[in-house]
Amino acid sequence: MTSYVFTFGGGVTHADPRAKDKTVVGGKGANLAEMAGIGLPVPPGFTITTEECVRYLAEGGDFSDSLKAEVAEALAHIERSVGKQFGDPADPLLVSVRSGARVSMPGMMDTVLNLGLNDQTVQGLAASSGDARFAWDSYRRFIHMYSDVVLGLDHHLFEDALEIAKEDAGYYADVEMQAEDWQKIVKEYEGIVQDKLGRPFPQDPQEQLWGAIRAVFDSWDSDRAKVYRRLNDIPGDWGTAVNVQAMVFGNMGETSATGVAFTRDPATGEKAYYGEWLINAQGEDVVAGIRTPQYLTKYSRERAGAKPLSMEEAMPEAYAELAAVFELLEQHYREMQDIEFTVERGKLWMLQTRTGKRTAKAALKMAVDMVGEGLIDEKTAILRVDPMALDQLLHPTLDPDAPRDILAKGLPASPGAASGAIVLDADTAQSHAERGEAVILVRVETSPEDIHGMHAAKGILTARGGMTSHAAVVARGMGRPCVSGAAGLSIDMANRTLRIGNRELKEGDIITLDGTTGDVMAGEVRTIEPELVGDFGVLMDWADRHRRMKVRTNAETPADCRTARQFGAEGIGLCRTEHMFFDDKRIAAVRQMILAEDEAGRRAALAKLLPEQRADFHAIFAVMAGLPVTIRLLDPPLHEFLPHSDAEFAELSDMIGIGVDTLKRRAGELYEFNPMLGHRGCRLGITFPEIYEMQARAIFEAACDVAAASGEAPVPEVMIPLVATRRELEILKGVVDRAAQAVFAEKGRTLHYHVGTMIELPRAALMAGEIAEVGEFFSFGTNDLTQTTLGLSRDDSAKFLNAYVEQGIFARDPFVSLDVDGVGQLVSLAAERGRTTRPDIKLGICGEHGGDPASIAFCEKVGLDYVSASPFRVPIARLAAAQAALR
Ligand code: PEP
Ligand code: MG
Repeated sequence: MTSYVFTFGGGVTHADPRAKDKTVVGGKGANLAEMAGIGLPVPPGFTITTEECVRYLAEGGDFSDSLKAEVAEALAHIERSVGKQFGDPADPLLVSVRSGARVSMPGMMDTVLNLGLNDQTVQGLAASSGDARFAWDSYRRFIHMYSDVVLGLDHHLFEDALEIAKEDAGYYADVEMQAEDWQKIVKEYEGIVQDKLGRPFPQDPQEQLWGAIRAVFDSWDSDRAKVYRRLNDIPGDWGTAVNVQAMVFGNMGETSATGVAFTRDPATGEKAYYGEWLINAQGEDVVAGIRTPQYLTKYSRERAGAKPLSMEEAMPEAYAELAAVFELLEQHYREMQDIEFTVERGKLWMLQTRTGKRTAKAALKMAVDMVGEGLIDEKTAILRVDPMALDQLLHPTLDPDAPRDILAKGLPASPGAASGAIVLDADTAQSHAERGEAVILVRVETSPEDIHGMHAAKGILTARGGMTSHAAVVARGMGRPCVSGAAGLSIDMANRTLRIGNRELKEGDIITLDGTTGDVMAGEVRTIEPELVGDFGVLMDWADRHRRMKVRTNAETPADCRTARQFGAEGIGLCRTEHMFFDDKRIAAVRQMILAEDEAGRRAALAKLLPEQRADFHAIFAVMAGLPVTIRLLDPPLHEFLPHSDAEFAELSDMIGIGVDTLKRRAGELYEFNPMLGHRGCRLGITFPEIYEMQARAIFEAACDVAAASGEAPVPEVMIPLVATRRELEILKGVVDRAAQAVFAEKGRTLHYHVGTMIELPRAALMAGEIAEVGEFFSFGTNDLTQTTLGLSRDDSAKFLNAYVEQGIFARDPFVSLDVDGVGQLVSLAAERGRTTRPDIKLGICGEHGGDPASIAFCEKVGLDYVSASPFRVPIARLAAAQAALR
């Protein structure tokens, strides 16, 4: 029989490996079992498996037949270990119920603490703890949480009732509330539940437990969990486990405490314990940002210039025990850990450990440091850094010399700098971002409902919350700069204004955040490009040593080529020459060329473009200094270059001496219903070979000139776009070869060069064997190949593709991440057929997918020679290529 429940703690050890398998018991459950297994103090508990969750959801909310009995047995295990009975009115066992999916989903799933309390057991807790205030405080927390999470009542109902009660009693803070005050609140809370639901708050601990289990399972399918999964590529069929664990209390007076900690600094990667704690508090108080927590270590407290004592100073014994646990955990997991702990009357308890989320900067530093410490090897270090996270390091930071008008300072919760217009809620953030505006989301504190707005924003600013608050954790995960807990920030939602320091701002005003220092500034502040040295350079060197595929770049300006080379590009995989034609100065000649009535007219215009193109190629060859450069001949539909307004037609007519009417007629002839499938790519070359002839001439003249000047001969790779047949390529290769021979004769110098093609149409992929008889290289143009294979317009499909991703039709947007199952088949088939004809054929990819780690992994599998990505993605591609090779 499959067991759906595994116990942990209290001295149990399981032979069944599933008990520590996070796909079965979730990340939290696996780590609790693991910690208990290495002898750490873990309150006993049990985990209901993810498999049961998946079953339950599929069955429309029915538990397995055996579950009741298994849970009863597991509960008895806790009772035996703790020596208390669940529901015992004299001295009750209380439990926490938490979710725990395979990967941590911060803030996404729900937690209930103090479960098992009711009107009787609360008396027992008061008696057994000798602390009535604590007992009633625990009970009101339980009613509040349970009502919110399980019964679906709005948490404001409870918060407002508490605020009013405090005001009536003349209290400022929760700590002033006495036992009787909490008891009154409990009565009031019970009244709210009765009022809203027409039934009393559940008193039966078993009913409470099963309600909570149901709520955890159901929350897997909540909207906010779905959004988080979509943003993080987490499959919907994993399900969550439920962890039920004996409660320990950090709120039993001044010798009790609770906290969260990282074994290294998650923002910088520094090898120093980093954490926050609160005396006399329950875990949720730290994470929710309700009270501002204190620093864990003396070092971090002093560095921050904070007064309230660190745990190291205030509770030296418990702290020493905790520090020993940190060391043990790092040695055991060989990874930075993010832990939750509680001290109950001086005794340390571990409630959670997991791999800690970190900034890209910290990820790099830790990976490199841990190799130095002998904790991990180079390969592990390479595999540990998420290539996409490098993005954070590749983006600008604030120019230290730029003037700053500092409004406030908060916690440096997630590094990087961002400027944008203030928006005060997540929906506004999303709608403005969709219009292309840069926005900064400003909130009192964020909650999981804000995820979409945080994702849409360039940066996040909150008035409340510490370094481990929701805003901080989520922003770091997303790579958004974030300043949290900004002192002196208040928001007036009614008027949509805010006060920072002594200044009044309104929604729409521009501010700048520095998530690395915590500064909040008025207006936009100048930024500078990042430097790729230090740990970044070390890890990139390791990656380069372990990857097989080369990494090139898609670039067409010398500036972009230079950036890409700084980022480590080993050549150009795609130089889109039409981008050079859009230049303001050249567009007239381009238009003249397109609208010419005959070849002679076109040649006259092309003669004007030739020197410009030659200069372009010259500059690029010079920057690339002998590295391979793939130049793609003109591709786009001609009408993209046409004049639009009457004024533009008149101007062009003046310039080239052809009447406006003639120009308009000619433009009308060029109009296409479906330009993506129209007169573009090599079809232009077939009908107007003189265009490609000019471009080829410009390429070879520039290459010869650079060879003469520098002694370093470029090896141009001339690429023909949108080929479907061998014959197209043959004809156009002829045009290129003749131009080359002519130039070489004129210059008295012969250079190596290659002519190849893009594979971006299904027919080309299918006929790759034949096409390779002519083409010396293939570059997979997966943008067009995706468009033509799926029959999805790359220009129009964004509008509805979201729905496709949301409904699971595509795991990801196929224009972002290659549709490996479908389009991928054409790629591997073409690679295979191409190689059969020409074993040494060079194969690369230059569609956007060349910068996407999942697609890069596929390219490695197919055995491509290189991937080509936009300049800022080159480091991502280098690391992803190394990871693909290592996996
Ligand atoms: C492609 O189609 O993948 C490609 C790289 O060419 P373009 O995006 O210029 O059409
Ligand atoms: Mg294309």
